[in-house]
Amino acid sequence: MQLSKRSKSLGTENAFVVLAEVAELEAKGQKIISFCIGQPDFPSPPNVQEAGIRAIKEGKHGYTPSAGIAPLRAGIAQYVARTRGIPVEPSDVVIGAGAKCFIGYSVQVLTDDGAGDEVLYPNPGYPIYDSLVRAYGAVPVPLQLHEARDFRFDIADLEKKITPRSRLLILNYPHNPTGGMLSRKDLEEIAAVVKRHDQLWVYADEIYGRLLYDGEFASIAAVPGMLERTIVVDGASKTYAMTGWRIGFAVNRALAPLFTTWVTNTEACATHISQYAALEAFCGPQDEAERMRKIFHERRDLIVKLLNDLPGVTCRTPGGAFYAWPNVTELCRMTGASDSEVLRQRLLREAGVAVLADIHFGPRVEGEGQHIRFSYAASTEMIREGIAKIGDWIKKNRR
Ligand code: PMP
Repeated sequence: MQLSKRSKSLGTENAFVVLAEVAELEAKGQKIISFCIGQPDFPSPPNVQEAGIRAIKEGKHGYTPSAGIAPLRAGIAQYVARTRGIPVEPSDVVIGAGAKCFIGYSVQVLTDDGAGDEVLYPNPGYPIYDSLVRAYGAVPVPLQLHEARDFRFDIADLEKKITPRSRLLILNYPHNPTGGMLSRKDLEEIAAVVKRHDQLWVYADEIYGRLLYDGEFASIAAVPGMLERTIVVDGASKTYAMTGWRIGFAVNRALAPLFTTWVTNTEACATHISQYAALEAFCGPQDEAERMRKIFHERRDLIVKLLNDLPGVTCRTPGGAFYAWPNVTELCRMTGASDSEVLRQRLLREAGVAVLADIHFGPRVEGEGQHIRFSYAASTEMIREGIAKIGDWIKKNRR
């Protein structure tokens, strides 16, 4: 069978691979505590569920315009203006089936296959950036994040890596997998560099923008001179516990018509029913979103403390999202695990605790040591039990 090179080398999200391992062990009767999944463990808010049911009953289940239904585009324009402090028109907004699809659309809109166009993105980072940049024939340019800088990249490194072929800079704050944040000052520094390069666009992946525990959220689109060249991307998945409804959006005046044509060519439109549910989520009462954020905040404080109490583990306090990214270099040494991936496999099979390893988010960064990722989209009981199991495993396996 003749298959494309593109398909043969296509990357993936290893979270799904680990989930399959977890399912296999559970099928054999082993109890696994999982910290793998990047989705809120809450039900979608009741008002959102009701809006979805109402939409079905009112017959809102046909195709919609590819850019989305007018009330949702208008609602999101207001939402983005309010949460980012930027002027947004409904026509600047395109709705998609999740925020994820805009990664590929942006790479396709801004780069040509095989032409040497470069895309910069964080490493470690959401693995889809790397896989789609490669799949669409652009040149991947990872920006190394550093633990000593609270998982931000070095501005000097960014400057060095920008060339006349750089077309797109992907930023993600709060960040998956480290939970790292970029402050307004960081964004201003990045913007000052970007503005020296006319051909360079910014993809601001702000999907975790409402899950922030210290300080205030700022968007790079709000830095003077950045609005036109920034693609602001967010969605309903994380903020409103709506991953399976598949609603995301991108905001950019110049690119909105192109994104719309891409949606027409691929998914046709986001689910009609989900668009009405999302309208309620973005524009209705925000108490449930705030309640969930507070619970994530409590869990963050708990898991960071418990991780730091483990021998051989140090964990910085992540500013947002629902991920902890502890340094386990010393733990690997103490237990004879050759690296974080071996440690991950042993924690799964011997301690019954599922996490992801740093290499699931890009090649390990030279000199940065070993890390694993915990998603704390898990109850406090699970957090306590899971970390206690790791503690027992360390006692038994310490050399
Ligand atoms: N960006 C990042 C950084 C993510 O972690 C995720 C989800 N794991 C997405 C985008 C996509 O989210 P969705 O498609 O559900 O909106």
